[in-house]
Amino acid sequence: MAGKLLVSDLDLKGKRVLVRVDFNVPLDADGHITDDSRIRAALPTINHIHEEGGRAVLVSHLGRPKGKVVEGLRMAPVARRLEELTGRRVIRCDDCIGEEVERAVSAMQDGDTVLLENVRFHKEETANDPGFAARLAGLADFFVNDAFGSAHRAHASTEGVTRSLTSAAGMLLEKEICYLSEILRSPETPFAAILGGAKVSDKIGVIRSLLERVDVLVIGGGMAYTFLKARGVEVGASIVEKDSLGLAGDLMAEAEKRSVRLMLPVDHMVAEKMEPGVKATATDGESIPAGKMGLDIGPGTIESFERALRDCKTVVWNGPLGVFEMEGFSQGTRRIAELLSTIGVTTVVGGGDTAAALRMFGLTGGFTHISTGGGASLEMLEGKSLPGIAALTDKA
Ligand code: AMP
Repeated sequence: MAGKLLVSDLDLKGKRVLVRVDFNVPLDADGHITDDSRIRAALPTINHIHEEGGRAVLVSHLGRPKGKVVEGLRMAPVARRLEELTGRRVIRCDDCIGEEVERAVSAMQDGDTVLLENVRFHKEETANDPGFAARLAGLADFFVNDAFGSAHRAHASTEGVTRSLTSAAGMLLEKEICYLSEILRSPETPFAAILGGAKVSDKIGVIRSLLERVDVLVIGGGMAYTFLKARGVEVGASIVEKDSLGLAGDLMAEAEKRSVRLMLPVDHMVAEKMEPGVKATATDGESIPAGKMGLDIGPGTIESFERALRDCKTVVWNGPLGVFEMEGFSQGTRRIAELLSTIGVTTVVGGGDTAAALRMFGLTGGFTHISTGGGASLEMLEGKSLPGIAALTDKA
C-alpha cells in the first residue's frame, strides 16, 4: 500500500495507540444509532490492537458541532454500541484533551478501550491547530488512522498528530486504499464507470480521471440533464447546471476522442414535482416535455445500461441514477444494483448516497467493495493524494 506503515507493522505490546476512527454514525431524533456499520468497520483494527497487547484510545468526530459542545452530538451512544460489539469495557471521556483525559488514558488496563469525546467540539480540530494536535498526540505512543471517510481532510486528528507520532494505516484504511487504487491501476477490462447523483460540478474531476481509464462511462441521475441539454435535447424542468453546459460538451468530445462509450439516458421517469407520492410517468424518448422533471432513468435506459454493463469485468459506481429515496423514482438505481450484485464482476462503490441506496435495497452483500467514505472515495478516484494518507509514516 503505497509504502506506508501499517498497523500490523507496529510492535504494540504495552503501547497506547491513538486511533482516528470514523464513528460519524447516523442518529435518530432520540439519539439512537440507526446504522452502526461505521463502528463495525473499525473493529478489525481495534481487535488487532488488543490482541497484540496494545491499548486503544479512539477519537472521532460526530456530526457538525462547528467547534462547540453540542449535547446531542456526544459520543455516549457510540460508546455503548462499541461495548456491545466488542464485549469489552469502553471508558468514555467528556473531552478529547485535558487532565481528565490524560488521567483516564494513564489508568488504562490491558484490554481497555478509551473513547474520547467528539473531536469537533474544538474548533482547533478542523483548523488543524498544531498545539491542539500536539495535545492529542501526547496521549499515545503511536497513531493509527482508520478513518477513511475523513482522510481527505487535513485536520488535527487526521494530519496534525502525524507530526509527532509514528503513524500507520489501520486495516479499514488499508482495505479502502487497496480497492480504490487497484481499480484505477489495473482493472480487468472492459472497465465501466457509472456516475449519477445531483450535480455535474461535484464530479468533474472524477469524470476527467475516469475518461482516461474506462471503456464505458454510464451517466444517470440529475447530472445527466446537463449533458443532454448540452447536446440540444429538451429536458423540461429537470435540474441543469447552466454554468457547466460548456464543460459537459467538452467532456463528451473528450470521450469521443478517447473512444470511450459515453452512455446517457434514452428515456426518463418524470413528474411535475419532486415529492413523495407524485405520479411518475415514462417518456417516449430522450426529450422531456416543458414543466416536467426527469427524476429517474426510464425502462429503455435501464435495458440499455444493463446490456452494456453485463459485458464488463470491472465496474466502479458513484451516485444514484435517480431520486432513489422516493419509491416512484428508485427503480433505475435498484435495477442496476440488482444486476451488478448478481453478475459476478468486480464492483467498487463509492460511499455516500450510493452505499445508502444499496443498504436500502438490502443488496450490499453482492458487491466487491463498498467504500465507507463518499468524498474521500471520489478524491481517490480522481487520482488525488489524500492528506490523511500522505502524512502517514513511510516504511523504512
Ligand atoms: P450526490 O450527492 O451528488 O451523489 O447526489 C445524490 C442525490 O442526487 C440523491 O439524494 C438523489 O436523490 C439525487 N438525484 C438523483 N437523481 C436526481 C434527479 N434526476 N433529479 C434530482 N436529484 C436527483
